[in-house]
Amino acid sequence: MSKTPAAPAPYADRIERLRAACRQRKLDGYLLLNRMDQIWLTGFTGEDGAVLVNERHVVLLTDGRFDETADREAPFARKVLRTSRTPDITAREIRRLKIARLGFDPRHMNVQTFAELRKALKGSRLNAASALISDMRRIKDPGETARIRRAIEIAEQAFQNLLEWLRPGMTEREVAARLVYDMQSRGAQEAAFQPIVAVGPNASLPHYEPGERRVTQREGVLIDWGARCDWYVSDLTRMVWPGSIPPELAKVCKTVLEALELATAAIKPGVPAAKIDQAARAHITQAGFGKQFTHSTGHGIGLDVHEDPGLRKRNKLPLEAGMVVTVEPGIYLPGVGGVRIENDVLVTETGHEVLSALPATVRVR
Ligand code: ZN
Ligand code: ZN
Repeated sequence: MSKTPAAPAPYADRIERLRAACRQRKLDGYLLLNRMDQIWLTGFTGEDGAVLVNERHVVLLTDGRFDETADREAPFARKVLRTSRTPDITAREIRRLKIARLGFDPRHMNVQTFAELRKALKGSRLNAASALISDMRRIKDPGETARIRRAIEIAEQAFQNLLEWLRPGMTEREVAARLVYDMQSRGAQEAAFQPIVAVGPNASLPHYEPGERRVTQREGVLIDWGARCDWYVSDLTRMVWPGSIPPELAKVCKTVLEALELATAAIKPGVPAAKIDQAARAHITQAGFGKQFTHSTGHGIGLDVHEDPGLRKRNKLPLEAGMVVTVEPGIYLPGVGGVRIENDVLVTETGHEVLSALPATVRVR
């Protein structure tokens, strides 16, 4: 048998950091069941995967469909091809590595798997250690930031193009479909999520699903979209006004834009996440729309569209250089419409860098 090669950068370092975190919590192994955690830790992108790490070994459990993928992407891991996802095979590997205290993330293990695994393991103890990997994923390295930048660039190019082809009469669904097609044509792996395209009063639903309503001259269109490039995502929102901004939304637009600027200006290392939310919320509340700002001000992005840190009310976590967050204040008036603007922002050593380059307000000719 050939000797397993060492893990390359950046995975070797990430695996060592996971080992250090395990030692600190007195765990002698960790079982990872989330696909994005798996991609982050090992580079293995297969859809079926579980990764078992202890002080000396990395074991990758997958099935035959991903046999070659595993050899290509994570040759440093010991590959175990399983015929079913039942926990007995996982339990066998845990015993083989003599892991007595096994950490796992309870957010990614369902109750059935937990019960079956516990039964199959007998002697070993399962220890919920939730934030172990997500804590590490909060800070992006330059390679990750470069991918996010690319995902932003492609999303923005597609949006610039949309401003050329968007016409009254198109349905929300059509606009969403063309936007996705355009991003993929420009090299995106896929849309980061199904774009939100909401015309007029539909924009008062923050997570609206595009439907059959048609673009008109009189109404605004809220577009929330993003691309996934090399697994990393962008997440942006812009309002498009095919005609002029309706007077009943003029103050709303101005307030959201000011809230965006205030929240962004507050971003720097050491500032608690809640302070950024507070900067946007205080301003919107002062303008009389506090109750119409129904969600948090932003969230981290990376491999997932929603990651730590959440820029929300009670999150005391201080921002750190390398975090990438969205800033997305919004005001929603049922029956009238809604306005949200969303940028992606990198926390830097000295403050922040707004990664998205599109102007905050957009008109079509
Ligand atoms: Zn968004
Ligand atoms: Zn978002």
